[in-house]
Amino acid sequence: MNVDHHNDRTDTPDATDWLGQAGLRPTRQRVLLAELLVGDGQNRHVTAESLYAQVVDSGEKVALATVYNTLRAFCDAGLMQEVTVDGSKSYFDTRTDDHPHFFWEETSELTDAPASELEIRSLPTAPEGAEIAKVDVVIRLRRARTS
Ligand SMILES: [Zn+2]
Repeated sequence: MNVDHHNDRTDTPDATDWLGQAGLRPTRQRVLLAELLVGDGQNRHVTAESLYAQVVDSGEKVALATVYNTLRAFCDAGLMQEVTVDGSKSYFDTRTDDHPHFFWEETSELTDAPASELEIRSLPTAPEGAEIAKVDVVIRLRRARTS
């Protein structure tokens, strides 16, 4: 048993464990990115570019393409989910359950919206031969107009 009594954040997932639970080999780059994503136990919404900026800040060297490919691999492994905004901008979310998002137009930030206040009563019928795979709810925010 290895219990650290000075640290009461016992549920903080270890980056290597996080990779292990999805059966991903803990390569140096994966562990580095996993630590930036879940090292403090908080959920995160990142783009490949914002995570790359964090890598650069930490003094490590990982190519942007590698950051992007690794985020895709984390999604494929079920560790993260991709949320697309504007049809082209991809955000990667460490929280994998279905939940709505706020998109802050001014800062291009994606944050979680309270799911308890969302109610979807009905959806359009999928066209013949198709089924609904997933419903993404992204609520776009702008600064309130003061009159
Ligand atoms: Zn989220």
